[in-house]
Amino acid sequence: MGTMIEALLGLQSVERQLTHVKSRLRIRKNAVPAQERRIQQLRQDHDALHAKSTDLRKSADRLELDLRQRDQEVAKDRNALNTAKTNKEYATLLTHINTIKADNSKLEEQVLKILQEVDVIKAEAAKLQEQINAEEARLAEVTKTSKDEIDRLTTMLDDLNAKRDEAAQKVPQEALRTFERVASTYDGEAMAVIEVHGKRPPFDYVCGGCFMALNAEHVNALRVRDEIRTCNNCGRILYVEPQGQESRSR
Ligand SMILES: [Zn+2]
Repeated sequence: MGTMIEALLGLQSVERQLTHVKSRLRIRKNAVPAQERRIQQLRQDHDALHAKSTDLRKSADRLELDLRQRDQEVAKDRNALNTAKTNKEYATLLTHINTIKADNSKLEEQVLKILQEVDVIKAEAAKLQEQINAEEARLAEVTKTSKDEIDRLTTMLDDLNAKRDEAAQKVPQEALRTFERVASTYDGEAMAVIEVHGKRPPFDYVCGGCFMALNAEHVNALRVRDEIRTCNNCGRILYVEPQGQESRSR
């Protein structure tokens, strides 16, 4: 293997670690805001339940007030019964009393239903509050561990960036530009090994990056020359492993 290809593979190895650490750092940095968003959503749900139960409670209070007024009306009519002067007057009062009492029993049922609904909502809200408490405890934990982990990953990243610069210095300018262009397309994976398929000649060659067939010319050239050859399909920089250690299909 030529020195340039070897330098590129060294760079590839550091680049791969960099990609990995960067992705872990991204996930870590997002952990706290993600947990905060989760809690905020739960709080909104909890507040909505609370508002709903307050509204229901108010409407139950209004109905109860109404009921009391109607009860007073009934009491008044009852007193009037005693002083009724005619049968007609008496009958009218009695009808009025019975109508109100029938209405009142409907109202009482309505109030009861509302209060039952309030109880259900309150239980739901209490369960949600428990969940919020648990998520808040988790947030405290995530915040603490994230800080340590972010510090650790940042140190690793600085270290790898230094290693990357060192590895890049060993690669000729033009090859480096090609590497960086391809690496940016494939998330840091710019190199592809040429896989050798078949038990005896003529072998088939396949790009280890995209698995498309490759011309034998690439292999023949790379065995004798230290040069940049890219896959015609995916554009990755091709390399061959030393003879005897090739990536063979089984
Ligand atoms: Zn390819």
